[in-house]
Amino acid sequence: MDNTSHIELSESALANNFQYIRERLAPGARLSHVVKGNAYGHGIDPFVPLAHKLGADHFSVFDVHEAEQVLKALSEPVDIIIMGMVAQEQLEWVIQKNIGYFVFDSKRLEQSVLLAKKLKKKAKVHIELETGMNRSGFEMENWPQISRFLIENAAYLDLQGLCTHFAGAESIANHLRVRQQIKNFRKGRALFKNANLKPKWSHAACSAAFLRFPKTHFDLVRIGILQYGFWPNMETYISIAGLEENPVDPLQRVINWKSRVMNVKKVHKGEYIGYGTSYLATQEMTVASVPVGYSHGFSRSLSNSGRALVRGMRVGVVGVVNMNVMMLDVSHLDHVEIGDEVVLIGRQGDQEISVSSFSEYSDQMNYELLTRLPLDIKRRVKTI
Ligand SMILES: *Cc1c(COP(=O)(O)O)cnc(C)c1O
Repeated sequence: MDNTSHIELSESALANNFQYIRERLAPGARLSHVVKGNAYGHGIDPFVPLAHKLGADHFSVFDVHEAEQVLKALSEPVDIIIMGMVAQEQLEWVIQKNIGYFVFDSKRLEQSVLLAKKLKKKAKVHIELETGMNRSGFEMENWPQISRFLIENAAYLDLQGLCTHFAGAESIANHLRVRQQIKNFRKGRALFKNANLKPKWSHAACSAAFLRFPKTHFDLVRIGILQYGFWPNMETYISIAGLEENPVDPLQRVINWKSRVMNVKKVHKGEYIGYGTSYLATQEMTVASVPVGYSHGFSRSLSNSGRALVRGMRVGVVGVVNMNVMMLDVSHLDHVEIGDEVVLIGRQGDQEISVSSFSEYSDQMNYELLTRLPLDIKRRVKTI
């Protein structure tokens, strides 16, 4: 049975975004599509085949579970990189399946050699360098030792990548820190080169670095948020679009989220709406309840402030968002019926609810809202 809301992915929007990204990609550089967090909430299952249909042949995920989902979603082999967690007992499967993975500690490197020997199959490693984010990555002082280890074990380790991750390339406040990271990464590249190591791909850029620091494209970029049609933050958008009066956003939102009116009710002046006393009707009102609440990813912080579209009109959330239900003030609409379409993200008539409007009403950022959309909401693809 379908859930109380559904998510629709737009193929034409995705094609548009791919084109935008590909046009800006440094010549010869490859594009890895980041689909961690269930493809930023879009759903790995529908998103990966759709992206593949539009030419995507390289995916980056956070963990082994996601890598497995990508494999399952496709019938043809593609390149996959795991950028984060691989548990010790999962490593054998990863090597067996030809999946690349970030390595940021020497124990992992040693285990890779042991397993590669056992499986008679080279392990596809991406050596992550610590350049300033201080999350994961080999410290600079250990780079010479790592490079020696890689040379000595070249028979077992396929050096697929040399990589790093930036600590906030979307914000000018981090400019100096990111510049220093780029310098450090270049040092690492030089050191590896001098040691006669030839990583297949050097990679560092996420969406923000891709846009703001074109020099970071190197051989491969790891693009997440941008492909889904969102800017890493407003600052990045302004830095690209400029401050013209009516900039046209070159990206298109891929996701649409829709539900239906569950019930319609009159409320008298002086009555409270919903749990507690957070909303008092100061006039005669009509409220529509919608079967979507915080358990479905509609944050409770949107209580009395979120927006939705009904019958082509923008309406506001009244009262607190419940676990499974929210209520909308539809007093200003001529007519509302049970079963009317409710757009939570997307377009209806000439009105639109963007994901960023959520971040304006709540503290959630794009990334968070999207990835909190539950796995079991049905995803459909609207093909071109
Ligand atoms: C999430 C992630 C990316 C992609 O970031 P976006 O801002 O969504 O483009 C790239 N690299 C790593 C290591 C990541 O964790």
